[in-house]
Amino acid sequence: MLKRHLIQIDGIVQGVGFRPFVFRLAKSLKLTGSVLNSNKGVTIEVEGLQDNLTHFQNRLRQEMPPLAQITDFNSNEIPLKNDERFIIMQSEYKGDSSVLISPDMSLCEDCMREMLVPGNRRFHYPFLNCTNCGPRFTIISDTPYDRVNTSMIEFQMCEECDKEYHDPADRRFHAQPNACPKCGPQYQLFDREKRQVNTNDPVKHTKMLLRTGRIVALRGLGGYHLVVDAKNTAAIEELRERKRRAEKPFALMAANADIVEKHCQVSHRERLALQQQTRPIVLLQARYSSKLPKAIAPKSKYYGFMLPYLPLHHLLMLDEFEVLVMTSANYSDEPIVTSNQQAFDYLAPLADYFLIHNREILQRCDDSIIAVSAGHQRILRRSRGYVPAPIILNNKIKAPILAVGAELKNTVALSNGNKVVLSQHIGDLDNPEAIQFFKNSITHMQKLLNIKPHYIACDMHPEYLSRKWAYEQPLMPKIEVQHHHAHLASVMAENDNTRKTIGIILDGTGYGTDKTIWGGEVLIGDMKDVSRYAWFEPVPMPGGEAAIRDPWRMAISYLQHAFGSAMQKLTLPVLQKTKPNELNLLLQVLEKEVNSPKTSSCGRLFDAIASILDIRHSITYEAQAAIELEMSVRNNLQRTLAYPINYNLNHGALNFVPLIREIVNDKVQNVPVDNIAARFHVSLAEMLIAIAIRARKDTGIAQVGLSGGVYQNFTFFQYLVERLRGEGFKVLTHSKVPPNDGGLSLGQIAVANARL
Ligand code: ZN
Ligand code: ZN
Ligand code: FE
Repeated sequence: MLKRHLIQIDGIVQGVGFRPFVFRLAKSLKLTGSVLNSNKGVTIEVEGLQDNLTHFQNRLRQEMPPLAQITDFNSNEIPLKNDERFIIMQSEYKGDSSVLISPDMSLCEDCMREMLVPGNRRFHYPFLNCTNCGPRFTIISDTPYDRVNTSMIEFQMCEECDKEYHDPADRRFHAQPNACPKCGPQYQLFDREKRQVNTNDPVKHTKMLLRTGRIVALRGLGGYHLVVDAKNTAAIEELRERKRRAEKPFALMAANADIVEKHCQVSHRERLALQQQTRPIVLLQARYSSKLPKAIAPKSKYYGFMLPYLPLHHLLMLDEFEVLVMTSANYSDEPIVTSNQQAFDYLAPLADYFLIHNREILQRCDDSIIAVSAGHQRILRRSRGYVPAPIILNNKIKAPILAVGAELKNTVALSNGNKVVLSQHIGDLDNPEAIQFFKNSITHMQKLLNIKPHYIACDMHPEYLSRKWAYEQPLMPKIEVQHHHAHLASVMAENDNTRKTIGIILDGTGYGTDKTIWGGEVLIGDMKDVSRYAWFEPVPMPGGEAAIRDPWRMAISYLQHAFGSAMQKLTLPVLQKTKPNELNLLLQVLEKEVNSPKTSSCGRLFDAIASILDIRHSITYEAQAAIELEMSVRNNLQRTLAYPINYNLNHGALNFVPLIREIVNDKVQNVPVDNIAARFHVSLAEMLIAIAIRARKDTGIAQVGLSGGVYQNFTFFQYLVERLRGEGFKVLTHSKVPPNDGGLSLGQIAVANARL
């Protein structure tokens, strides 16, 4: 018996080869009907035998193209039409479009093979792509996703490309960035004086430059990179010098996963993480046997490795390099450079040569960063390859909400129905470039989702520029969300869990409801409301913001807190290294309580311990002291004993004096720093576990949510997760959005929605 189904599919279904796939599938099952792109996604009508229709629906989901993602699937029976065949129909765009766009994806195997075949018309062509790979988000200015709305509009397809583009049987059917050497974008090589280098193979010439130790600025997908040969110590040191980046690790690109394995320990899961088509930077434990120069990642036990994602990357590595340093082209935390003009203006002091191309980068997008910990991929920076794929929720958000994120590691987010789309990593909103980027992202997100927000969710911090921007928007109701509540809601939202939760929220800085700076919080509640169950006992931050840059100030603050005036008699390196006049000044500041805001920040506790242990007294990049404290842990934490402190805690302010005293005692007695660091990690975790157990007794809630920047410390995170599970808790953790402030915008939307 014949039947006809009308199927409506929403999600990332355009520009990813969905229609040809449907076409082939329908034909193979002897179904008639049609498929077309519309403003609501893809609309399919299929007619045939009931069994075949069932197969069709099942295989549709199982075998769909790699870049496709279905967010909504609706099927209804309709009257028969008795078509003769199955056809791809002209696209229909009426009114608003809600179609999602795919993130940029790395070169696929098919294109890779083609690129390496001599005689192929795309042999060694750095801009080849197909419906299964290539640029998407970074080349789009507007919806719908058609060539006219991308930076490919500058390039008129040649006859051959045009034929592929219009042939449903071709894997480049409606591949919007389709191009070849005859009609598409090209690379050119320039020196820093903006003189074009006379060469007929700019890529090959660049390889020669890199081999001789030159620093090359390379225009890629979402911005410029600075590239040097990773085996050339002098070149790496020169790059550090020019970039004024003393110690922060550089990202690396390796030709393949086997080469990564020469330098790092790579588990099966980590190998998959490296090879996935999103091609993030993966943080991996370095091998002691690796011969890569120390200057790449001084004091870190991790390397951040990614595999080639652009055709250009493959061509650069081919027969030449195993590993390249590939760091974002910017100064400190400013947004990465995207335009050629900007590159010549800003990067001339940094780079010797410029390998540029003529396809505009319309959306800036950094490399994403992930790590595998406690069995899952943990995303630390969510950008290229992930944006603008949505986070899908079970329930619809009541109205479109724009969330503007935090101040550091900013992202913004916009909701539409059951989808929340987070922007790419925008970064720290402390420079005009970043603010412009922030505003552009908000405008662009609205275009992409074709939606105007009805509400704005923002942080409560009166000094956050994101919040100030929110209040400059007239007529739009604001919903203020406390920073750590947003963190908790963020981890709950990405796990699609709305039940009451004990949130152990640990980060550097967040504005509290009592107008002090929070950051070590045990919150209990749900998306709508939380109460503060326990917190780190507040200590002064002498010098305010300066205490973030100078962990020694936090060390003195904690020492003063724990020992009073007896502190000065301790034989600790931090006291010996601090100039007497500076120390006295700081003590006066503490005593008179001037410019010493109190904080319950967990990040500042890590800073203080790092300085007390003589690991780091001043930092050159964010969280450096805490990171180096983690790096100094060599012991297996599962076999490390917590300090013998009574962790049978009452709730309220958690007192760290006994812990500080134990640590100082050990340090004074020259206990190895790695032992003390390990015991600190375990003790802090045990203290929080004791509090969680107590909270469970008080409330009956057995679910814990972990969020906040401190959970980028995987040594700590993994121990805490395993122990909490061992104690019978259900533990909610991040894997879809970052635990740091990069995931905050999702939480802001969740809280705002719960309050509507
Ligand atoms: Zn491809
Ligand atoms: Zn062409
Ligand atoms: Fe935070």
